[in-house]
Amino acid sequence: MVKVVQSWDDGLVSDIRLIEIFRRHHAKATFCLNPGLHHDTRSFGWRHEDSEVWRLSIHELCHVYEGFEICSHSMTHPCLTDIPYDQLLWEIKASKQMLEDIFHKPVLGFCYPFNAYNDSVKNMLRLSGYKWARGNQHYEEAFPPADPFEIHPSCHFLDHDFWNKYDRLKCMNSVFFFWGHSYELISEGMWHNIEEKINGISLDPDAEWFFLDELIM
Ligand SMILES: [Zn+2]
Repeated sequence: MVKVVQSWDDGLVSDIRLIEIFRRHHAKATFCLNPGLHHDTRSFGWRHEDSEVWRLSIHELCHVYEGFEICSHSMTHPCLTDIPYDQLLWEIKASKQMLEDIFHKPVLGFCYPFNAYNDSVKNMLRLSGYKWARGNQHYEEAFPPADPFEIHPSCHFLDHDFWNKYDRLKCMNSVFFFWGHSYELISEGMWHNIEEKINGISLDPDAEWFFLDELIM
């Protein structure tokens, strides 16, 4: 038996296509959002390879992510270990409040922008009511985490060893946790490949999808 969790970052327009795949195959997923970076209309973020990366508008977040788990990725995606105390407080507390207002449900998880954190950041998360936080280093055996504010995924979704890691964790009755960004899916072949992965997991009678909240609480 393997418990499977997946987490996708940054609130992008390409999440819509990813979510269609998740819905088709009844997969759970966690999305890490920066509410301070979404505007009244969709907005250009940056270029990746040959494509433009666009953020969703603030008004479509609630509908796009309905039924999925939401965690805060801070207000504006700064490196949290490099900013003054007041901004850190705002990035952590205001993002939680704003996401809870948008989604009308508690937001208990946090994802560190650029995987940057220290004891002050973790303490502020705890004091602000978060229950867990994730980074993006790869610890194959992610669960149970020694510290719920230092959860790291088993691997990235493009990891060449994806299925071997999945099989090893299944043999251990453990948790397989992968992550990524939908903007990394830059060809039809890659979209086909992620759908194969999601479908493969959903069809596995020895696998079950979970939200991170369900594994931590
Ligand atoms: Zn990010």
